Amino acid sequence: MREERFDVVIVGAGISGIGAGYHLQTNCPNRSYAILEGRDRIGGTWDLFQYPGVRSDSDMYTLGFSFRPWTAPKAIADGPSILQYLRDTACAYGIDDKIRFRHHVTRAAWSSLDSEWTVEAERAETGDAVRFRCNFLFMCSGYYDYARGYTPEFPGTERFKGRIVHPQFWTPDIDYAGKRVVVIGSGATAVTLVPEMAKQAAHVTMLQRSPTYIVAAPEQDTFANGLRKYASAKFAYAVTRWKNVLLGMAFFWFCRHYPERAKALMVKGVRNALGPDYPVDRDFVPSYNPWDQRVCLVPDGDLFDAIKSQRASVVTDRIETFTETGLQLESGAILEADLIVTATGLNLQVLSDLKITVDGARVDPAQTFAYKGMMFSGVPNLALSMGYTNASWTLKCDLTCEYVCRLLNHMDKRGYTQACPRQNDPTLASEPMLDFSSGYVQRSIAKFPKQGSKAPWRLYQNYVLDVLTLGYGSIEDGVMEFSGPRQSSEGLQAAG
Ligand SMILES: Cc1cc2nc3c(=O)[nH]c(=O)nc-3n(C[C@H](O)[C@H](O)[C@H](O)COP(=O)(O)OP(=O)(O)OC[C@H]3O[C@@H](n4cnc5c(N)ncnc54)[C@H](O)[C@@H]3O)c2cc1C
Repeated sequence: MREERFDVVIVGAGISGIGAGYHLQTNCPNRSYAILEGRDRIGGTWDLFQYPGVRSDSDMYTLGFSFRPWTAPKAIADGPSILQYLRDTACAYGIDDKIRFRHHVTRAAWSSLDSEWTVEAERAETGDAVRFRCNFLFMCSGYYDYARGYTPEFPGTERFKGRIVHPQFWTPDIDYAGKRVVVIGSGATAVTLVPEMAKQAAHVTMLQRSPTYIVAAPEQDTFANGLRKYASAKFAYAVTRWKNVLLGMAFFWFCRHYPERAKALMVKGVRNALGPDYPVDRDFVPSYNPWDQRVCLVPDGDLFDAIKSQRASVVTDRIETFTETGLQLESGAILEADLIVTATGLNLQVLSDLKITVDGARVDPAQTFAYKGMMFSGVPNLALSMGYTNASWTLKCDLTCEYVCRLLNHMDKRGYTQACPRQNDPTLASEPMLDFSSGYVQRSIAKFPKQGSKAPWRLYQNYVLDVLTLGYGSIEDGVMEFSGPRQSSEGLQAAG
């Protein structure tokens, strides 16, 4: 089997893998690295998802990289523009040269004797296995299964004569002009699809089991666009990034501390947008508190405009069965459809479901504690780049990369080859890693590592705190255990 060695292997060439490449080559220039990417293009999420209107649902000043200003006028950006930004970034810093495409990583084995991971990848064209050795494994593989979206078992789907498509597998040949479309779901994907498809479809119905909090926000950030006229793009970006971080944190804090007031405010926004005659309580007032699940953002209220113009509508009901021509609902209502889009969610994955072993013993991520939300108790020299649930993904990924680089430089300076977080605190209580009540989180939370009741095992989901702890906190914290090179058995024999 072909074999190569790098100091660091990064898995995944999406936002987080490209960010990891930049941070490594900038902050640890002496460390060699390669990025292994299973697909044949960069961009991850922003290349995979091709459904109509695909866009960010957080602003690009916080979803963009800390080191590369977002300069396009739209703050809530469309998928192709985000993909272009990622391609341009990878090209500008020579990160694209480091990517091995069509290398799907399947397993990783750590040897304490050699202070080394052996990473096995499958080549897409041939199915051949190739091997990489590295001292540090940086998982930037995202958080969901690319091969399967989540669709509940709906009765009668085989009877439906039209087309059923999951947004994750949207293809350009899907024609919906003049057609009756039903979008099942009420999350970020559904609220993106509905106004966009309503521009061409005969009618689009968003069928939801229960409502979600939906907030209208300006598509363009006038503050940022204005500031760019008078200051450098870099300065305008940095200031807008902090403005949006702080506003986002304040909104989250307000929702968690004053849920009733936050709820009233958000519902009032919808009522103002849809008018006094719309049954807002039925379709837009969730049973849970704000930010117990993700709040959906609609740019310039496009969803509300589509509803007001009657090109789209919302139905809150449950599916009894698919029929030949559409859907029969539990209330007895019937929805006729030519095309049904199941915007029913993603299947979450931890560490890309890799088979991971440490000195021959299989690692079950669910049995580990997450250290600073990025490393795992008992697993040496491995980090996962995982974003926030209550703010833009990249904010945390950038800080994770900074911490990993600090860790690697610290190891270099002290001559350590291994860094392993150890959880030996008997008083530490365990909690689920994600505290969302959303179906997609609850379906898979048992597979996730746990978080602890206190630092460094606790996930605070707080950018300002993370800037301080990950950027400036002590690397030697008594929890991270360091060790130097061990002599291999051959070395010991030679010495003896
Ligand atoms: C439609 C949509 C809109 C979103 N909008 C936002 C938003 O506005 N704001 C926000 O914060 N978040 C958003 N998210 C979440 C989003 O996924 C993250 O923000 C971000 O794009 C994730 O980047 P990533 O690089 O970590 O993972 P991904 O984009 O998933 O990229 C992971 C990469 O790793 C590769 N990979 C995975 N496993 C392996 C393996 N075993 N071997 C080799 N390669 C592998 C994949 O092929 C992929 O290229 C959105 C998600 C979706 C689906």
